[in-house]
Amino acid sequence: MTPNDPSGFNTRGGRLYAENVALADIAAAHGTPCFVYSKAALIAAYTGFDTAFAAHPHLVCYAVKANPNLAILNLFARLGGGFDIVSGGELARVIAAGGDPHKVVFSGVGKKAQEIRDALSAGILCFNVESPSELERIDQIAAEMGKVAPVSLRVNPDVDAKTHPYIATGLKESKFGVAHGDALALYRRARTLKHLRIDGIDCHIGSQLTETAPFSAAVERVMSLVEQLGADGIALTHIDVGGGLGIQYKTEEHPCRVDEYAAAILAGVKGRTEKLVFEPGRFLVGNAGVLLTRVEYLKRTADRNFAVVDAAMNDLMRPALYDAWHDVLPVDTAHAATGTLEPWDVVGPVCESGDFLARGRKLALKEGDLLAIRSAGAYGMSMSSNYNTRPRAAEVMVDGARMHVIRQRENVAALFAGEAILP
Ligand SMILES: *Cc1c(COP(=O)(O)O)cnc(C)c1O
Repeated sequence: MTPNDPSGFNTRGGRLYAENVALADIAAAHGTPCFVYSKAALIAAYTGFDTAFAAHPHLVCYAVKANPNLAILNLFARLGGGFDIVSGGELARVIAAGGDPHKVVFSGVGKKAQEIRDALSAGILCFNVESPSELERIDQIAAEMGKVAPVSLRVNPDVDAKTHPYIATGLKESKFGVAHGDALALYRRARTLKHLRIDGIDCHIGSQLTETAPFSAAVERVMSLVEQLGADGIALTHIDVGGGLGIQYKTEEHPCRVDEYAAAILAGVKGRTEKLVFEPGRFLVGNAGVLLTRVEYLKRTADRNFAVVDAAMNDLMRPALYDAWHDVLPVDTAHAATGTLEPWDVVGPVCESGDFLARGRKLALKEGDLLAIRSAGAYGMSMSSNYNTRPRAAEVMVDGARMHVIRQRENVAALFAGEAILP
């Protein structure tokens, strides 16, 4: 990490900082485990993405599920962003954070009737429809409410995103979207439904994509449909190319840059005037956050060295779920530079062998040390759970020299407040 690391984290005088606040000071004030976000890094990621598409009319709809904290939603709303939601709960968050419902697209294969009603009442921009049954249901609910629902069909372009199978969504065997070959017939059906207005087309092929080729292939497939629709008299107002742009987790990896991604997309829509809609999640928040944790115990066994920390798989599930790799940085970089390096498995207190945050990392550790697990801004807090009755971590956003608690650490009593024993 250089002093000018765009992620908003830097090293000064042997200590790790988030902007102008020492991570050790955040741990002292708010305890660990704690997610720490840099406001400057969030803004830089958003504006970097937004300006890459300056040449074409567009709307950036942040994928709320990557990190739904109200402070983050509010920040993107202030920057002019819209939102991609996948539940009624996320719509409620967007509204509570001051987001504009007219800039909301609603994705997901299982929209319930009440969620559709709430989205119609709020006046969202568009429903990304994922099946014939959903199309009929939206039309029927809109009819009951005396409204016209704006719709896009989520097309499954059947391209290999070359990412982890759990986060690849654009192959024909996936549960998402409608098959490319079925889309035209379903658009024709939509045209006959009086309470629907066909607005766009949508696709999302997966997450943590590191090459431009799958994006280009998906856009090409979608554009071939846009042309067929045009020939059929179905004009669209927007083309939604989804999210999925990957971030750098490892220094030696070089995922495609946002300008390369933009060039690939813009080449695919050359000459078209429809507005582009994007649904980036990870790219906007992933590298803007770290998970701050403290070493409780160092445990040496015949086979391995374990650093038992106070964060666990319930706080950051990605290593356990996807075997994901997160960089681990000592917060006291001065000691780390002089101590003896040994390989450590960084593990949590949860009763599962899958409960690890990192394995075999060369670190100079002592008990009580603070560690920063990098690139934890996306799919960290949002996938966290209370497994092992562990209260969820606090969240802090740093803005220059100030730190703001944007979510209090949960307290244990609240975890079972809704439970009851038999009379
Ligand atoms: C998860 C998701 C996104 C965001 O994906 P990222 O990889 O975080 O950019 C966008 N659109 C849909 C439909 C999603 O399910």
